Amino acid sequence: MKYVSTRGGMAPQAFCDILLEGLAPDGGLAMPESIPRVPAETLEQWRHLGYAELAAEILGLFIDDIPREDLLELTRAAYGRDAFPGDEMVPLKPLGAGLSLLGLSEGPTLAFKDMAMQFLGQVFEYVLEHRGATLNILGATSGDTGSAAEYAMRGKRGITVFMLSPQGRMSAFQRAQMYSLQDENIHNIAVDGVFDDCQDIVKALAGDLEFKSAYRLGAVNSINWARIAAQVVYYFWGWLRATRPGNAQPVSFCVPSGNFGNILAGHIAREMGLPVRRLVLATNENNVLEEFFRTGIYRPRSSEQTHATSSPSMDISKASNFERFVFDLLGRDGGRLKALWRELEQTGQFDLSALKPEFEGRYGFVSGTSSHADRLATIRRVKDETGVLIDPHTADGVKVAAGFVEDGIPMLVLETALPAKFAETILEATGAEPPVPAHLADLSSLPQRVVNMACDAGQVRDYIREHAPLPDSEAP
Ligand SMILES: *Cc1c(COP(=O)(O)O)cnc(C)c1O
Repeated sequence: MKYVSTRGGMAPQAFCDILLEGLAPDGGLAMPESIPRVPAETLEQWRHLGYAELAAEILGLFIDDIPREDLLELTRAAYGRDAFPGDEMVPLKPLGAGLSLLGLSEGPTLAFKDMAMQFLGQVFEYVLEHRGATLNILGATSGDTGSAAEYAMRGKRGITVFMLSPQGRMSAFQRAQMYSLQDENIHNIAVDGVFDDCQDIVKALAGDLEFKSAYRLGAVNSINWARIAAQVVYYFWGWLRATRPGNAQPVSFCVPSGNFGNILAGHIAREMGLPVRRLVLATNENNVLEEFFRTGIYRPRSSEQTHATSSPSMDISKASNFERFVFDLLGRDGGRLKALWRELEQTGQFDLSALKPEFEGRYGFVSGTSSHADRLATIRRVKDETGVLIDPHTADGVKVAAGFVEDGIPMLVLETALPAKFAETILEATGAEPPVPAHLADLSSLPQRVVNMACDAGQVRDYIREHAPLPDSEAP
């Protein structure tokens, strides 16, 4: 399996070669040269597998430069009891009326990003060790991604993490989660600014090519292909749990979306032959993607035009993984995609309304939006009717999914976080604080390890110089 760029300008590369890279050299994103197909018989044979074993089967279709035994060791380490202490790793929770939740938030940070990040931590360590290399991960977070990355990378050999977060802008729970990590390879830097300021600092340092290569800076952002591949696994898992043996019964999935990473994995699973009827994309008030699937026009917003909502992990103006779907939509024509992205840069939008019949007809995509009032009402209603408490992001999914339920076709809503992370909105919706999982009960009383810093790329650079392991050239 080789990987090419969505913009057509990269010679085919192996998985381990694209793993540690960000954008392709031509500015595009890595995609498998072709999507592997899973025959119906194989799918049936996977019914008895545990999650780690299923993950090795599916990831093995995308990764042929890591021996299968090693891959299985990596998935067993990623998806074991250490990170997922509950009875079930990815439970299916029926809500009635044809809807179920696919529980993706049983990992260390109580959000679905753990599902991919736990694998990323294992495979990064493995590949670096085989290459005798080290990596300094520099990132910016507004909450979920940074903590998932830190929990996945803590204690990993050859990896040091420098994570910038906006001072005083995360929830108390999110701060406690990140800053209570005492591992020596994890550095939390709280910047006096907002999330965009943190991201600007990351961009400035990653753009300083000399510094970047001397300190081997890398990223774990949502465009990383290994994250997408790891997410494909739970679509198969959900289908296998929601259907009975022997009949390739279709199911639909509804996905609360921001960067288009989660639902892109659903698209890949569907292209692999998983019997998926519809992929329902749910947005909050930031409805760039909903608008595209409704009209065919893609019109990203500026950060000023991006609303701060009560489902904050979906407050995204420009969906970085969307390019990968458009690549397929354009018949994998890198030249055409490149021209389209040039138009986007020049005019701020592009129009694919001519292809609109294919969005649903060929690819199964439909979309809808949800508002703050919808979230509150949905959290309250699901709690009253089923006793299940859902988080605000999942509530956006449940609200939108309800409009697309069809007789006899299970609708699986991806549970992207647990309510404990978003106490304020849960309190507003239900009048009570959400319960905190037992193993996190004393989180807020743990000592915190964080350095405060002015909003200044120079200071962050000095900090990395001081705290990163010595660059190769200076090593004794
Ligand atoms: C990241 C995140 C999302 C959005 O996922 P994308 O892959 O960016 O579409 C939704 N909900 C939660 C809780 C998240 O952390």
